[in-house]
Amino acid sequence: MQIKKCGEEDEEKRLKAKKATEEVTRHDNKSSIAAYFTHCNLQTPHLRLDLLSAMSVCYKAKNLATASNFARRLIEINPAVESQAKTARQAAERNMTDETNLNYDFRNPFVTCGATYVPIYRGQKDVSCPYCTARFVPGQEGNICTVCDLAVIGADASGLLCSPSQVR
Ligand SMILES: [Zn+2]
Repeated sequence: MQIKKCGEEDEEKRLKAKKATEEVTRHDNKSSIAAYFTHCNLQTPHLRLDLLSAMSVCYKAKNLATASNFARRLIEINPAVESQAKTARQAAERNMTDETNLNYDFRNPFVTCGATYVPIYRGQKDVSCPYCTARFVPGQEGNICTVCDLAVIGADASGLLCSPSQVR
């Protein structure tokens, strides 16, 4: 297993997310894509930038409720800054709605699909990689895992068997 510097890994995640954006664009909108970016588990400086861009994209699209959620996360990271975040929050308090229908709900916990980056909400059907346990939408079953490039998504993994007594 190769050990990478945090920065490199972040950059890789950002590139992967950018690629996935093309996929998502076909059936989704800007606000949702910006929203997914904030769930890529990036390091704080990158997360801060992505939150900032997600907030302003949602704010401009009048998706105030979602923009307000990003503003809250920004203020959590650094309470001293982000006057934009405070403006967005104040606007949202007057009108807590989203103008467009987003495929993104910050109130509902979710994981992002490792290949398409669409959210998989709790209770929704998904498939996972038996090697690295990344989760994917069911349509990705049978493809090579895009996260580890090692295993087939949804394949049944028996693990390493060392003794016949382990086989049942
Ligand atoms: Zn994997």
